[in-house]
Amino acid sequence: MSFRMPSNLNNTPQDPLYRRVQFLWALLWVMFITFLVLGSLNYAINKVEWVAFMHWGTSLLNLVLIYWHRRAPHHVLWVSWAVVVTCALVLFAYIVVMEGHDYSLFWLALYPPVAFFLLGRRWGHILSSLVVGGNLIYVAYASQTWQPAPFTVHALLNIVIALAALFAVLRHIEKTRSEAFHHLQDHSERLEYIAITDPLTGLVNRSRLDQALSRGLQRAKREQKAFAVILLDIDHFKRVNDTYGHQVGDRILIELAQLLRSNTRGSDTLGRWGGEEFLLVAESCSRQQAKVLAEKIRHAVAAFIFHADIRITISIGVASFHAGDDESTLVRRADEALYTAKANGRNCTVTELDLEIQKSPAV
Ligand code: GH3
Ligand code: MG
Ligand code: MG
Repeated sequence: MSFRMPSNLNNTPQDPLYRRVQFLWALLWVMFITFLVLGSLNYAINKVEWVAFMHWGTSLLNLVLIYWHRRAPHHVLWVSWAVVVTCALVLFAYIVVMEGHDYSLFWLALYPPVAFFLLGRRWGHILSSLVVGGNLIYVAYASQTWQPAPFTVHALLNIVIALAALFAVLRHIEKTRSEAFHHLQDHSERLEYIAITDPLTGLVNRSRLDQALSRGLQRAKREQKAFAVILLDIDHFKRVNDTYGHQVGDRILIELAQLLRSNTRGSDTLGRWGGEEFLLVAESCSRQQAKVLAEKIRHAVAAFIFHADIRITISIGVASFHAGDDESTLVRRADEALYTAKANGRNCTVTELDLEIQKSPAV
């Protein structure tokens, strides 16, 4: 026998059962010791043997439950039921014996939180109603024959102890609730992060870029503001992979992501569009400003020495918001511009305006 909680449960506070087992375990030990002491006091000092034997019997019952719980930790629910039923019997016996003295009824207030916490909402509700209701009905009949009970120091002490126990139980329940809430909050933040992040580069992924595009377009339409997208693609990246291996290729993608991030504003959304392509969604940015930014980025990449002394270049397509645009038309124009940049020999920036110039018939 040890004071440690049953160990085959996943003993971390994140486990939904953890706090319940902790509570059960504390309750069993507190009841075991309290009734042992009360029985001994009644036997030795008060000399009321039958009360002493009842206390010792209850203490023994708690010891048996501790043993059961220790041997079969997965029987949490059964042990909880046994404890809740034991508490109901002890409470009833106490109220019967005390006949209204020492504010014994005060202890009834402790029953619902214990029952709800150990058995859950449905059975907690049923048992609390039965036990509290049953005791009150009993008191309504029995109290007709009870003698008036004076308010004594004992009564005050009893109220203080019952209140202290109630505080401890409610504190534990609140701790359990707030822990579960924070755990779920952390978990959902983590899931949200995973859902919008590209695992390799740590930039946002395509789904988050789609959101940024539609938000930016809505704002551009509503507020008549300029709005541009910049699509970047590494030149001949396949060669890098073929020459240095895929792992080195990955490392270059990571370094490029950092370089791009350090060359963009926090208000812009930079993400991995797919493979070795990146998209920058630049709100409140005209085509001209976007071209300047694109060129700055292109020069920065061309000047940077990547892992294993590798140098790379990028080609860039720029498109800006036109009335009647939606996400796909805007990105399609950026993609066409990028395609032209590749066709023009790579390591250059092409805007949709350059495309129009190229498309327009020669005069
Ligand atoms: P271009 O200049 O025409 O863009 O040539 P490219 O070789 O960059 O383009 P291509 O589309 O032929 O090849 C893209 C390469 O990017 C091939 C693929 O292996 C590589 N790639 C895509 N995603 C990843 C990745 O996550 N890690 C690594 N290491 N390579 C990737
Ligand atoms: Mg490429
Ligand atoms: Mg590509």
